[in-house]
Amino acid sequence: MKRVRCPKCDHYIIFDETKYEDGQSLVFVCDQCHKEFKIRMGVSKLRPLQRDDNPDEQANKEQFGSIVVVENVFAFKQVIPLKEGDNLIGRRHPGMEVDVPIETSDPSMDRRHCYINVSRNKKGHIVYTLRDNDSVVGTFLMNEILGPKDRVRIEDGAIITLGATTIILRTAEDK
Ligand SMILES: [Zn+2]
Repeated sequence: MKRVRCPKCDHYIIFDETKYEDGQSLVFVCDQCHKEFKIRMGVSKLRPLQRDDNPDEQANKEQFGSIVVVENVFAFKQVIPLKEGDNLIGRRHPGMEVDVPIETSDPSMDRRHCYINVSRNKKGHIVYTLRDNDSVVGTFLMNEILGPKDRVRIEDGAIITLGATTIILRTAEDK
């Protein structure tokens, strides 16, 4: 099966590509926003923004680590690198710049939901701090909601919930 993204609303549509031949044009109607759009089989723009189905969770351990988005009904599994400093995390939306854009149709995730700050402490170890960004439904760490002023240290494997979406911290290798 392959998936295509609706150019208007980002909704994914899944179809059986084995029923079609290369070069054939297909017309889709988005079941979310009802936009009609066309793709051509076998042409590179078929999967412009798609990721590997099983991305490597450790891919960024030499730099500043990653967050892993757990696959659910709204989103595919994603591994998104973190950078040093503040990482603003939210639901990907065209025209909205965030550091960690999550491709999902989860309506309960804000477009600017929370921050993970990555910095080095005095001993040179990389530390990760989570804080909410005044999100509508709040940011949860291990099922506990963060208060508006909370700045919480998080470690490798920390489970963070943003709306209906779960993300997991994969830290950098500490040297
Ligand atoms: Zn759509």
